[in-house]
Amino acid sequence: MAGFGAELLCFSQGPPPLGDGCGQVTGMNRTLGCSLLLMLSSMAMVAQQADPREGKLLILERMWNEAQVNRDAPALDALVAERFVNTEYDGEFSDKTKFLADIRDPLFRPSSVNIQDVKVTLYGETAVGARALDGWTTTLPHALRGKEGSAVPDAAFYEQWATSPFADTYLTKLAEAAVDSLGLGKSGTTDFLGVSYSSVDYVGHTFGPRSWEIQDILVRLDQDLGEFFGFLDKKVGAGNYVVALSADHGVAPIPVDMQKTGVDAGVLSLPELQARIEKALEPLNYTKPVVARMAGNEVYFSEGVYGRLKADPAAMKVVLDAISTMPGVAAVYRAEELGNGTTPIAQTRKAAVLSYFAGRSGDLYVLQKPYWLMDSSPEGSKRVTGTGHGTPYNYDQHVPVFFMGFGIQPGEYFEPATPADIAPTLAALTGITLATRDGRVLAEALRKPTKKD
Ligand SMILES: [Zn+2]
Repeated sequence: MAGFGAELLCFSQGPPPLGDGCGQVTGMNRTLGCSLLLMLSSMAMVAQQADPREGKLLILERMWNEAQVNRDAPALDALVAERFVNTEYDGEFSDKTKFLADIRDPLFRPSSVNIQDVKVTLYGETAVGARALDGWTTTLPHALRGKEGSAVPDAAFYEQWATSPFADTYLTKLAEAAVDSLGLGKSGTTDFLGVSYSSVDYVGHTFGPRSWEIQDILVRLDQDLGEFFGFLDKKVGAGNYVVALSADHGVAPIPVDMQKTGVDAGVLSLPELQARIEKALEPLNYTKPVVARMAGNEVYFSEGVYGRLKADPAAMKVVLDAISTMPGVAAVYRAEELGNGTTPIAQTRKAAVLSYFAGRSGDLYVLQKPYWLMDSSPEGSKRVTGTGHGTPYNYDQHVPVFFMGFGIQPGEYFEPATPADIAPTLAALTGITLATRDGRVLAEALRKPTKKD
């Protein structure tokens, strides 16, 4: 592999420019109220901070709030980075120019700001609770040199490479080569090209969503996508192709990172949960092992056991109690509760219902609480680093759905949409009738025919 071991293959020489982002202020609750309270509470907090930067951030936060109350555009201009992006609770988005114009708008008349429960969390070069890959520490930058600077690419090198933005860049080049060698866009019929940028997933697992690494890979992926669309504009022609971009899941914050900020979070050991179920049924004369397999959130009982439990409500209760009293468990669903999802149910159970496949899914589905990770490491070797995904919570489920190009009406649409809507929408654009479909055609985002059409 050309360039292996060269300094150029360094994963981020420095943090990407993201405003004043050396930390994060959370828990802010703005209400109209008493501005005196704001000053007292933030000064009291400044006194408590150990790191002087935490106090500085709180002062900046206060200046930001006061500048907004006073509609002081020059002060905000000085405070806000050139690449500032603001997203409101309703999804409305503004850049620095629009943000400052909104502040100057005579209709914007705030009277005061009240901040409550403000906490400052500082993030350094090392992501809290990150997993160190073979040959890497958890601190930036990460050089692609294999286990110990090996002369040839070793297994560690390939894992490092896949967990870096450079695999995405390589994949972009591969996609371009596919367009060229297969003559995509030149056959007179519709061609389909699917590209899976999976390194974001590996970086998410290894460093978590609050890391420089995840910011770095997204900034660089944005550049790769720009390069790819520029290539398609040249080869296929702008407006002659349609792009659908989405993700199949998000990533949970690393549990120890959440714990540091005082949030209930942790690791839920599946072997421990399994042992708990075995122990609970011990006095009731069930032959061991009662559990055949634990897989992700699913419990599979040994043959005949679940049928027997269904006929024995007292034993079933013992099992369900043993599971639901385990720290980190939010709920436990029985297969028969998931198999007939006809009655109105909570969003969390609905996700389990949609995942249920009779004959393949487990007998029980154990749902963890938010910020808890399922862990299948053997008993006694609980994992403490890295993170995962696969829950029905917002941090896992909220993903982008973008369309661009042929037949798309540019805009932002606030109707509910899911990645399952992508296939029906592309099918509608290409005149294909799908045999079955889960999603809907996102008609609101399709260009309406004009007289010229
Ligand atoms: Zn994953």
